[in-house]
Amino acid sequence: MVKRVLVGYGIDVDAVSGWINTKTGAPANPTDVSRGIFGATVGIDRLLKLWDKFGIKTTWFVPAHSIESFPEQLAKVRDAGHEIGLHGYTHEFVGTLTEQQQRDVLAKSIEVLTVFTGKKPRGWTAPAWDTSKETIKLLEEFGIEYDHSFMHHDSQMYYAPSGSETWVETNLTREASDWMVPMTSLKPSSVVEVPASWHLDDWPPFQLSLKQASTHGFVDTRVVEQLWKDQFDFLYREYDTFIFPMSIHPQVSGKPQIVLMHERIFEYINKHAGVEWVTMEQMVEEFKKGNFGGVEVKGGVDV
Ligand SMILES: [Zn+2]
Repeated sequence: MVKRVLVGYGIDVDAVSGWINTKTGAPANPTDVSRGIFGATVGIDRLLKLWDKFGIKTTWFVPAHSIESFPEQLAKVRDAGHEIGLHGYTHEFVGTLTEQQQRDVLAKSIEVLTVFTGKKPRGWTAPAWDTSKETIKLLEEFGIEYDHSFMHHDSQMYYAPSGSETWVETNLTREASDWMVPMTSLKPSSVVEVPASWHLDDWPPFQLSLKQASTHGFVDTRVVEQLWKDQFDFLYREYDTFIFPMSIHPQVSGKPQIVLMHERIFEYINKHAGVEWVTMEQMVEEFKKGNFGGVEVKGGVDV
């Protein structure tokens, strides 16, 4: 069978917002803030030049704070024809928010993006891929068509199941018999999932942060390049159709050595027959129209 592979970049413009939403209320470190400014300025410019050189359109998930703080930079992204999707207002970790706070952040960020682009955003990715049990329900409520945060699969789209019925709280004050029950069955929502993967993300290997134990910052770009190519090779061998969404950040991938890595990855992937470089909304469009296959996520039992 002829291969068809939809490949795309999701670019999270966390900029300053990712450094000031500290969860603890502690003041932001000015040096961290300066790294965010580098991303919003130098990083965006370098990546826009790269996509222009490749001749591809990409998806930019932008916290509303970044749009309101760097309107001229984001206007370049918008005017170059790239997709702009949701990523919170101040990069809030939604798992720490109340349902009402999640709703208020969604409403405000949808409003900012709609005014800025002239159309309602279609997609959302959770800041730090930190989701909540209300996430899918709220995306449905706000009419958001797709999400890019969950990991039920790694290369096939599906209708995201709502997480609200799969939670079994455990704590030491309860009887063990209270929690020894299987998960309840998954029910698909109307939200299409473009699955996320930490192994196709630039942040953990390349962004040094002394406050985030999961980050490193000094991994050889050729090690990560091989890691990403190996994933592509396996999927290309095993599936006739699959998606390959890569997640990056201007303050990380805008660094010289990582720009060069993306150039090598682009050239490598492009050597394969059937590859199309698309935005995530284009992936979702193909899936919803039935032009591109996916999977059904199963699990749990009816109790
Ligand atoms: Zn982010």
